[in-house]
Amino acid sequence: MSSAKTIRALITRTKGVSAQVETLPVIELPLQSTVKNSPGECNLLVKVKYSSLNYKDALVVSGKYPGLKPPMIGGIDIAGTVQESKSDLFKEGDEVIMNGWGVGTDHYGGFAQLASLRSEWAMKMPKGLDALGAAQIGTGGYTAMLCVDALVRNGVKPEHGPILVTGSTGGVGSISIAILADLGYKVTAVSGKTSSTDWLKSLGATDVKARSDFEAEGKPLVKEQWAGCVDTVGGNVLANVLSGTKYGGSVAACGLAGGMNLPTTVAPFILRGVSLLGVESALLPVAKREEVYGKYAEALIKSKKLDKVCEKAQLLTLEQVPDVAEKMLKGQIEGRYCVTPE
Ligand code: NDP
Repeated sequence: MSSAKTIRALITRTKGVSAQVETLPVIELPLQSTVKNSPGECNLLVKVKYSSLNYKDALVVSGKYPGLKPPMIGGIDIAGTVQESKSDLFKEGDEVIMNGWGVGTDHYGGFAQLASLRSEWAMKMPKGLDALGAAQIGTGGYTAMLCVDALVRNGVKPEHGPILVTGSTGGVGSISIAILADLGYKVTAVSGKTSSTDWLKSLGATDVKARSDFEAEGKPLVKEQWAGCVDTVGGNVLANVLSGTKYGGSVAACGLAGGMNLPTTVAPFILRGVSLLGVESALLPVAKREEVYGKYAEALIKSKKLDKVCEKAQLLTLEQVPDVAEKMLKGQIEGRYCVTPE
């Protein structure tokens, strides 16, 4: 185990009560993963350089995550250096990134100086990225890459028409805009924040629509407008997006920021051949992750758009995370926040 005997960590001890920074004995880090879909030995000890704050992290940190199993350390994203390895896949000193697999919700995550992980969960640092860039991309950016890739693989091309991005000031939404714009798509952002129009345009949106235009219960079909959509919101918003998607268009659905339900009809599917593409990031095999990072991450860094995505967010200390988490749950923040456990 590590030479340090204790680490600093942000720990949620009680349901409904915000996490606090504590000094934790290293021996309390898990030796085994009991995560349902990926049990086994934790054979990798990673010194966390950066994590980031995602919606799920905000729920864990505020004690509001449904199914929270306290004590828990949030932090779905981890970018850091291998300190000890019992795996052939990695050696001491390797730079790695990791997200998903139940880490931060069901297994101690990245809001701590060290994380004890399974080597099967980790990825070597992709080309062109460093630890901060990787944390800035994080689960949000990685999910954005998966959503864009789903649209591309389903045949949506820039010449087919505008692509809608909902929840656009969020982590997934903002990075989706940046990637899509870079690939030559015309992007219409949907946002609940009128004050963010200029920022969304600086990321590459050509047009910004009010979220309220999509929130009322809609008709089964309306005028065909969108060639595709990255939807992070669900609920009525997704139903209205489907109603206005063009013949043969595709909608990648990854989120539920506006609700779990989907009050739609079969009309968009059977009368316009619209495809609804489900995107799940947490349990995706590493080879698939490497593929999307290989396609989109380096360009995202080079475009400097990631700096723009993060420009309104300072780097958070562990102590600062609970307050920002509360704001995130109220939908009051923009872009992506990174966290340093130092
Ligand atoms: P963020 O909290 O960063 O952003 C969510 C955005 O949604 C907000 O910025 C806001 O954008 C909008 N929003 C907030 N509250 C509401 C509301 N009540 N109704 C409608 N819109 C709302 O979250 P992320 O971008 O990190 O994640 C987005 C969604 O994707 C979440 O539901 C998350 O759980 C999910 N997710 C799913 C993954 C998967 O594997 N499928 C992986 C990662 C995330 P605006 O004000 O601009 O409208």
